[in-house]
Parts: sequence; structure tokens; C-alpha cells
Amino acid sequence: MAGGSVAVDTDVLVVGAGPTGLALGIDLARRGVDALVVERADELFPGSRGKGIQPRTMEVFDDLGVIDAILAAGGRYPVQMIWQDGVRAGEHRMFDPAEASEDSAYAEPWMVAQWRTQQILHARLTELGGRVAFGREVVSVTQHPLDEGTVALRLSCGETLRAWYAVAADGGRSAVRRALGIGMTGETVDPHPMLVADVRIRGLDRDNWHVFPPRGEGAGFLALCPLAGTEDFQVAAQFPEGTEIDLTPDGIRKVVADRSRLAAEDVTEVRWASDFRPRAALADRFRSGRVFLAGDAAHVHSPAGGQGLNTSVQDAYNLGWKLGAVLRDGADAALLDTYEEERRAVAADMLGLSTRVHRGETRRGEATRQLGLHYRESSLTTETRTSPGPVRAGDRAPDGTVNGVRLFDAFRGPHWTLLALGVEAPELGGAARVVQGPAHPAYGTGLFLVRPDGYVGWAGETCEGLAEFGRRIRL
Ligand SMILES: Cc1cc2nc3c(=O)[nH]c(=O)nc-3n(C[C@H](O)[C@H](O)[C@H](O)COP(=O)(O)OP(=O)(O)OC[C@H]3O[C@@H](n4cnc5c(N)ncnc54)[C@H](O)[C@@H]3O)c2cc1C
Repeated sequence: MAGGSVAVDTDVLVVGAGPTGLALGIDLARRGVDALVVERADELFPGSRGKGIQPRTMEVFDDLGVIDAILAAGGRYPVQMIWQDGVRAGEHRMFDPAEASEDSAYAEPWMVAQWRTQQILHARLTELGGRVAFGREVVSVTQHPLDEGTVALRLSCGETLRAWYAVAADGGRSAVRRALGIGMTGETVDPHPMLVADVRIRGLDRDNWHVFPPRGEGAGFLALCPLAGTEDFQVAAQFPEGTEIDLTPDGIRKVVADRSRLAAEDVTEVRWASDFRPRAALADRFRSGRVFLAGDAAHVHSPAGGQGLNTSVQDAYNLGWKLGAVLRDGADAALLDTYEEERRAVAADMLGLSTRVHRGETRRGEATRQLGLHYRESSLTTETRTSPGPVRAGDRAPDGTVNGVRLFDAFRGPHWTLLALGVEAPELGGAARVVQGPAHPAYGTGLFLVRPDGYVGWAGETCEGLAEFGRRIRL
């Protein structure tokens, strides 16, 4: 693509090495796109906060080559134990039960501390030859036609980096979003401030997530969750409106001692602590010129329902292949418009869902697992059949086995896949991997062109229209 005489430092600058920036870095690296992730901090984020990985993100992690490490680093969510006056008063299950099946190998959320997820993503990025430049804070953004269509990011150290595209993955307070003048529209979900911390506790079993409901009017709850794969507990505690939360180790010990049967000294170590007020807000745009917003920079929400990290990683997964198609394969840059079109709609739905879960208006279940997300209404999606079967264009392509080939094995990698089920596969000249077999119960009969991010982009009974679609995406 990108011609011109202006020299760029890298093709894509990704701002922020959180889950979004790291996932995008991996996806770009495996496509051979030159990208640099710049991170303000000197090291990766140390806290556990986004600890729930949803089944759809597990599938994404499988494709990105980190699923074995993620499985090894985490565990299932324990049952919540509700304590009243120092005794165990009842149990509560966080999620509606779900079984793994042939079309989705991951049924329930998997608990991995966010710091561990980020370590795993960073290790994979490095393995693929990708880079994170730590200790680099972006302070301003310049886009100007005179720059021959590049974007320049100025760092606090005075250095300027130039790229064809930039991605703001710099979190909820995104400096890049502010520099672009993109507003966030939203509301306070809950006026009560929350404490979240990672601690070591002695004398508390790790078989349950221990919940201590509020004692008395105006008091807040305490929850102590054993973090799978670590020796830590994640502390979550709610406070009355207007409270300035004491984040010192002694302050955290006091909250635990005041609200549970534990003594302050039972909290033997405080490893990380933070506070937040649950908000739900959506960026007015996910793109300005050559800069895209992704992850928390584009949407902030209540942690209830465990959607944030997941939606963020899937933003990156949607954008990665499109940047690759434009920068590496010469696809029309209009393909990049479909990022905002597809992901802003998903984020808006997710914000509503997180808020409803936070307010107790809905349970964690099918919707929070994110397997039903789709892009049916996207301008990129092409359904040519008049009476589609169980899977329509825009839907997530389910797993399954066709002629002894596991579909998720066939999909794994940065390519497109053509499924020819009960019909002859047309000649695509090696542009997509082809899986041919009989009609499949999950899909029905037909041709299904599966995008690199695992959604059916095009579906038809015959190949009529397939070549035209392929030209659009430079297949
Ligand atoms: C208590 C709590 C519990 C949560 N639980 C869940 C859960 O169970 N499941 C779930 O899916 N989500 C959960 N979340 C949400 C999840 O943590 C976030 O959605 C996720 O971290 C977003 O990732 P991100 O990469 O977009 O942003 P961040 O993780 O915020 O990363 C942004 C990065 O950008 C860097 N940065 C910032 N400014 C600059 C700059 N100017 N220049 C360079 N670098 C910069 C930051 O240092 C940071 O490393 C929870 C959040 C909280 C607070």
C-alpha cells in the first residue's frame, strides 16, 4: 500500500501494552506487519483485575497460539461461599452451567489473573519477533495531509514516531483519544467506590470465593477470590459514596478484618491495590483518520460480567487482519471502515449487558460467554442465500469435524478458510485454505468463506459472487 517519500518508523504504532495492545501486536506480527507497541510504564501491569476469560476469547487465544499457556496458568471459577456472622450461610454459583460441545470447546469462563495473561501475551509477541518499547509515553498526535498520510506520535521524552496507522490501546483514560478530541458518552453505573487488591491471606481455604455481605445500612460487601494459578486472593470491597479508599497495606488489612472473621495480621502481603468507580461509556467514534481506538480506550464499563478484557482482545482481533489486508495484501483501505462499524455495535451491546449484570437485572450466562456475537449487519458481510441454514453470513463459524479435519485446526492461522459442505469447492488459486466435505449439522449445506477472525464473511449455495467478494478483501 503505503507509498510516498515519507519515511515511517514502523507500519503500525500501538499505544499501550495492555491486553488489547499485546493481542494486536501478536496478530500483526504473525501477519508479517511491522508494528511497535509503546508502553508508558516500565513493565507490564502487575494486577489481577480482568481475571475472567470468556469462551469466545479462549477461541481467539487458541488461534493466537497462547491457549496452552492460558489453560496452564488458570482454573475454573470456584463456587461463592456466603458468610453471615462468621458462619457459612449458603452457596452461590456465578454462572448458569454450560457444557463444552463439538461446536465450542470452551463452555465456561476461565480464571487467569490479568497480569499473568499479559505475561503470556507478551511472551508470545516476543516469540513472534514483535516488540514492546517500555517507558515511552505518548503525549500528542499529529495527522496532516502534508505528511503524506502518516500519523506522528510525540513521546514525553521528546522523540516523535511516525507510522501509516496508529492504534490507541492506552486504556480508559486514553491520552490518544483525548488528543484526537473524541468524546465518551456514558453514565455512572454505581456511585459506590470499589477497592480491588491482590493479597496473600493465611487461614482461608482456596476452595471457595468468600463473600461477606454488607453488615448494616450504608456498609459495603467484601469478596475474597482465590486467584487460580497463584497463591493470591483478589480482594473486592465496596464503600459508601464519597469514601476516599485507603490503599495502603494497613488500610486493606483493616477492611478485611472489619468485614470478615479474619484478623488484620492474616493478610500477610499486599501485592497490588487500586480503586475505581464503575462507569459505562462508549467513545463517540472508534476512528479518526489513521488512528483507531481499541479496548478500554474505546469503551469503559463495570467489571461485572467480565466483559472488558474480552471485548478489548476481540477489538484487536477484528482490527489485526484488516490492517494486515490493507498494509500487506493491498486491500482497499475502505476495509478499515468496517472496524468501527462492527466493533462499536458490539461494544454498545456489551456496555448494556455489563450494566445489567452489575445491577442484578440479568445473570451471567449465554450472552456473557460471547459465543453468540455476530456481524450479520456489517456492510462487509455477504449472505447470498435466500433461505440460510443454521449458520448465516456474519455468524461465528462453529467448531466441528469435516472429513476428519477439526475445523478450528483448519481455521488456526492468519488465513481465510473456505468450507464447501455438500457442494463442490470452486478453484480459489490457493488464496484460502479449503475444507471439503458433506453437509454438516452445525452449518447445513453450502459454501462458507470464514474470515481470519473466525466469522463467516460470505455464504452461498453456489460460488456466484464469491470472486467479487474476494476482490474486495484482496483474497
Ligand atoms: C476490578 C476490575 C475487574 C475486572 N474484571 C474483568 C473480568 O473479569 N473480565 C474482563 O474481561 N475484564 C475485566 N476488567 C476489565 C479489564 O481489566 C480491562 O477491560 C482491560 O484491562 C482493558 O485492556 P486495555 O489493554 O484496553 O487497557 P489497559 O489494560 O488499561 O492497558 C492500557 C495500557 O496503556 C498504557 N498507557 C496508558 N497511557 C499511555 C500513553 N499515553 N502512552 C503509552 N502507554 C500508555 C498503560 O500503562 C497500560 O499498560 C476488570 C477491570 C477491573 C477494574
